Amino acid sequence: MEEKEEEIVVMEYVCRHCGSTFYTTSNKKIEVCAICESTSFDMNNRKTNENLSIIPFRKTIKAAQNDYNRKTMWNPLIPFSFKGKKKIKSIQKVFLPALLVNASQKGQFVFSGEDHENSGRMVEVKKYDVYENVRVDYQGVLLNSSTKINDRKFISLCDYDCKQVRDFNSSDIKEASYLVGDVYVEEVGEKGRKKIFKNTLMLAQNEVRHSYSKLKEDNTVIEFSDSKQVLLPVYLLSISYKDRIYQYMMNGESGKSHFSLPVAFFPTFLFFLLLFGILFSIGYFIIQYL
Ligand SMILES: [Zn+2]
Repeated sequence: MEEKEEEIVVMEYVCRHCGSTFYTTSNKKIEVCAICESTSFDMNNRKTNENLSIIPFRKTIKAAQNDYNRKTMWNPLIPFSFKGKKKIKSIQKVFLPALLVNASQKGQFVFSGEDHENSGRMVEVKKYDVYENVRVDYQGVLLNSSTKINDRKFISLCDYDCKQVRDFNSSDIKEASYLVGDVYVEEVGEKGRKKIFKNTLMLAQNEVRHSYSKLKEDNTVIEFSDSKQVLLPVYLLSISYKDRIYQYMMNGESGKSHFSLPVAFFPTFLFFLLLFGILFSIGYFIIQYL
């Protein structure tokens, strides 16, 4: 049976500076690129009939602003000039593209194990072939499908509740936009496969009770039981400071955030000097008077 696909009319914005492509509804205007802050776009009307799923926003824009302020205001390592609110160039509700997979890996690994035993003055090396059966199920693994967001940032945000996943509809982007994935699904799946393999191998290696275990043979298969393209809610704050763009990102569902900080050298130095001074004084006081 053929799946029914609804066509959605969207406005496409392609950033002239970084090439990021965003889709939104025609009544919402994108002023600034959420990735690079450029204000120059190529715009087109588009029809899209991709089968997308979505996790809706739960956190408000106010919550994202508050979290950003808390994270920056009280951090002594961030330059003062950075803390001013005027430095926030834009704050946007954006959905990031991802692939959500359920998978399992099963079969057998063969390891060449090795133990070193001391018998008298000799060190005896004993070699073994170790057969390890594996069966690991993976539920709700999220994989980044955009080259515009680096994997490290992506992973640091990813504590989404996959039970919230539902079908995408055009009202989801009335006040938001979504970044269009630019990595082929097959390629993302391949990345997921490697990630799963690495994890299963690590789990199996921990089970092998020998001082050395190297994978000799892999007789396992990884099967995806389910995979879908899903849009993840994120607040993106672009902050420009000394000709660089810093990105603060907050998971729009759980509130988990990521911020790569500029570190000010002088305040950092002053901060540690002060800290050292206080600790030294306390120490001195204790020795002298107690
Ligand atoms: Zn851009």
